[in-house]
Amino acid sequence: MKFYSTRSREHQAASMEAVLKGIAPDGGLYTPLDFDSMQVDLGDLLGRNAVEISTLVIGKILDDFAPEEMRALIEAAYDGKFETEDLTPVEKVGDDFVLELFRGPTSAFKDVALSVLPRLIVASREKLGVSEEIAILTATSGDTGKAALEGFHDVAGTRIVVFYPDGGVSDVQKAQMVTQEGGNVRVCAVRGNFDDAQTGVKDIFADDGRSGWAAKSGARLSSANSINIGRLAPQVAYYFKAYCDLVLRGEITLGDEVNFVVPTGNFGDILAGEFARRMGLPVAKLVCASNANNVLTDFIRTGVYDRRREFYKTSSPSMDILVSSNLERYLFLASGGDFDLVAGLMDDLRSRGVYTAPESLMDIMREHFAAGCADDARALEAIGRVWREYEYLMDPHTAVGWAVMEDFKAREDNGCVNVVLSTASPYKFCRDVLSAISDEDPADGFDAMDRLHAATGVPVPERLARLRGLPVRFADCVEKDAMLEYVKDAVRRDA
Ligand SMILES: *Cc1c(COP(=O)(O)O)cnc(C)c1O
Repeated sequence: MKFYSTRSREHQAASMEAVLKGIAPDGGLYTPLDFDSMQVDLGDLLGRNAVEISTLVIGKILDDFAPEEMRALIEAAYDGKFETEDLTPVEKVGDDFVLELFRGPTSAFKDVALSVLPRLIVASREKLGVSEEIAILTATSGDTGKAALEGFHDVAGTRIVVFYPDGGVSDVQKAQMVTQEGGNVRVCAVRGNFDDAQTGVKDIFADDGRSGWAAKSGARLSSANSINIGRLAPQVAYYFKAYCDLVLRGEITLGDEVNFVVPTGNFGDILAGEFARRMGLPVAKLVCASNANNVLTDFIRTGVYDRRREFYKTSSPSMDILVSSNLERYLFLASGGDFDLVAGLMDDLRSRGVYTAPESLMDIMREHFAAGCADDARALEAIGRVWREYEYLMDPHTAVGWAVMEDFKAREDNGCVNVVLSTASPYKFCRDVLSAISDEDPADGFDAMDRLHAATGVPVPERLARLRGLPVRFADCVEKDAMLEYVKDAVRRDA
């Protein structure tokens, strides 16, 4: 499989190289164009377990790993790490379904991919005979950081630096990151929002691309953000797995189309759904759900992507994003691989903060995508109502998806089964969840955790419960202009 940079014909890579580089030298994102060789036989998947389905689906996308090698890698990646053998169970809630992606070690859906990515990177490094250490740079809106730290800590031949927006993550998320163990990890707050942190990381890559300072320190930069194709591939698997579960339970028959409602930030999770669709999964609509930062809702409806707007801090911080990186990959796919178009649009976004996609492209997008948004009030209302009606406890990100699903059904019910992707445990955001189901006023995130458990009886994920006793290892906080120096220092000093 050939992966193309979305921005120019010159930069192409096979999957191992794409995984190692993370981002193409021209700033584009490695993306496949030809899905013919990636078609999945659904009948063949039925009855297989989660690890087998993942092996098969990821192997179709990253096809220069040998099948046995991929199987061993996936088995080791998930072995004993998730609360359930099933990895990503589907729950029926009322007439609809919730795909629980948060049963992994850090209680967010990013564990599904970040359990696998470090192993893909290490295997690629060995196969390609790369001697430099792989330095992973990651900007996080809260969940990626911890999931990446968990995946990479003490992995030989790698080190990892995580930047998070100061004051932009929940108490529990912050505690998860600043207590991280491991000799090859660094965690640092940035004064700014997530977009500042993400732009800062992209600029560091670009700076290294120009001057090559990392290589001089014996390192090679790579990314654990969803711009890495090795992050995207494992996420495609759970769409197939969920579909098979629905068939096996008799909720649908093989071939029926399904709607997936996806709480969206960087457009990675929902893009994995588009990959699944292009690989043969019967998908009716991918419903893009946003919070008050509804730049994607506007884009899908109008074709104008305009980031020049107020940035809201919401109770679903992992979706507080105005520049959705992976949308670039979708523009590339929907335009049939039009490098110049994508490069032009990304240039407009960078220089003017806005671009307009061609109407022909938007027509293609609207065939397969719908969009909606729900603000904090609606999301919290949904948490309370769904708890009272079904005794099902959602986190605020999942609740945005739920509310958007309700609007979608009211607006254009296409008669298909609806699956809402649930992206985090309610205990990662227990303050807001508690306030949604009661009028208690907790002292902090951990007090809220206890009270939420007392009020609902829903078990607290063990590793979240243990957090409060752990020592804080990282208190660094830098201005965004100082991120480059921070990384250079980490790479040099710890090398
Ligand atoms: C990262 C994240 C999202 C958004 O996923 P994208 O792939 O960035 O669209 C949604 N919910 C939670 C809890 C997340 O951690």
